[in-house]
Amino acid sequence: MKKILNYIDGTYQDPTSGEWLDNFNPSTGNIYSQIAKSTPKDIEHAYVAAKEAFPSWSTTPIETRSKIMLRIADLIEANLDRLAAAESLDNGKPVSLAKAVDIPRASANFRFFGNAITQFASEAHESVGRNTMNFTLRQPIGVVGCISPWNLPLYLFTWKVAPAIAAGNCVVAKPSEVTPMTAYLLGELLSEAGLPKGVLNIVHGTGPEAGQAIVAHPNIKAISFTGGTTTGEHIARTAAPMFKKLSLELGGKNPNLIFADCNYEKMLSVTVKSSFANQGQICLCGSRIYVEESIAETFKKDFVAKVSELKVGNPSDNDTNLGALVSQAHMEKVENYIEIAKNEGGTVLFGGNKVSVPGHEQGYYLQPTVIEIDDNKCRIQQEEVFGPVVTIVSFKDETEAIQMANDVQYGLSATVWTQDLNRTMRVSKQLEAGIVWVNTWLNRDLRTPFGGVKNSGVGREGGFEALRFFTEPKNVCITY
Ligand code: NAD
Repeated sequence: MKKILNYIDGTYQDPTSGEWLDNFNPSTGNIYSQIAKSTPKDIEHAYVAAKEAFPSWSTTPIETRSKIMLRIADLIEANLDRLAAAESLDNGKPVSLAKAVDIPRASANFRFFGNAITQFASEAHESVGRNTMNFTLRQPIGVVGCISPWNLPLYLFTWKVAPAIAAGNCVVAKPSEVTPMTAYLLGELLSEAGLPKGVLNIVHGTGPEAGQAIVAHPNIKAISFTGGTTTGEHIARTAAPMFKKLSLELGGKNPNLIFADCNYEKMLSVTVKSSFANQGQICLCGSRIYVEESIAETFKKDFVAKVSELKVGNPSDNDTNLGALVSQAHMEKVENYIEIAKNEGGTVLFGGNKVSVPGHEQGYYLQPTVIEIDDNKCRIQQEEVFGPVVTIVSFKDETEAIQMANDVQYGLSATVWTQDLNRTMRVSKQLEAGIVWVNTWLNRDLRTPFGGVKNSGVGREGGFEALRFFTEPKNVCITY
């Protein structure tokens, strides 16, 4: 059976434990590969490789770093079909989605930060009249840790490691043990692109063992983490007393506010996507739909009609809209939330059941599910489900819409549908979220700050924000 090995110091290696974890294909429920079960010893090996690579990599001219990163981007692009197929097999998402979104974005991440580093600059402050000049050095931190989740595996893994190495750091990175395959395949491409050994080390294993060893390592000075809020809390508890730099991108429960004056057709088709793309397993999915009372009945009817056209099926079929959920445990969690919603008085307008896909009967398939709710305080409105489930609540006016939208512990993103510019400004300013999309969704410019407020995280990724995170500012003050 295929083995997913660690990539340390530029070579593939078995875990020192000699132990392996099962890797499941969510579309069939079968075990199809074995994952290195790394321990703190493997993390230490990766750390030593990174530390040894650092003096040379951190002084490698920016143009050279950039050139290598652009080569990695080209190689990801050249391997689009193979990587997309691997991502789909590992995660359950439709191949068509991996091909259109995940893999192109992984390539774009390397290309973007390979270019961005050539434009990154720091400040100078002249203390006029005091014969003093200050300038800020932006130096790489050293060895940094990057930990990523399973929903957009290569996309989010590269979103972290690309700015880290662009800025001159060396990295110990761990993808999710639920979806390690494409990060494993990336190792080959790094070597082929000529990335010096030790600059990016990819270690596999569980969160509590391998992930924890990265976070707790005394000499890994910064941690960039994307994942669940509870895990983020645990990581903060471990890393804060060690005074590490921390970037935490956590869960969401994002509102989608639909006003009666919106462009209805556009709103309807984008709302189907923002509800169910990637089986609803995108941290930015709009899982709480709030619709203005005057159009609520029409919207429910039209939305359900459109959702009922979505095809749940084999991720390899071109016409599949929703593939499999990522794991049995996750599917059960989502099913459980549907039950909770029903018990709390929710009305299932569509879906709610498992789907049996012919030839893939043991796969983890669920119908896209639409639930009408009248209590904003119930669990399905407050807790992150992270699956193909959206709720619909109607509101009477703007004030009520904003109040309900903000009435959760999360604050990642929000979507607003209106043609009224004044309302756009008023609502955007009041929403408690790191990202607000108006008349669009998941429309990303990689230069913009990305991240959440409240329990959705701390810090921002993207553009120069990421390069600032992965560097340490040092002021040099000179008098003359
Ligand atoms: P998770 O928190 O279970 O795991 C994420 C990563 O952390 C995995 O690699 C895991 O092995 C590791 N990990 C787990 N315990 C650890 C520990 N004690 N120390 C160090 N590492 C540890 O999250 P998940 O289930 O993989 O992903 C889903 C979650 O990610 C959802 O909550 C979703 O909203 C969130 N997410 C957020 C964003 C964002 O940008 N804000 C993007 C995607 C996903």
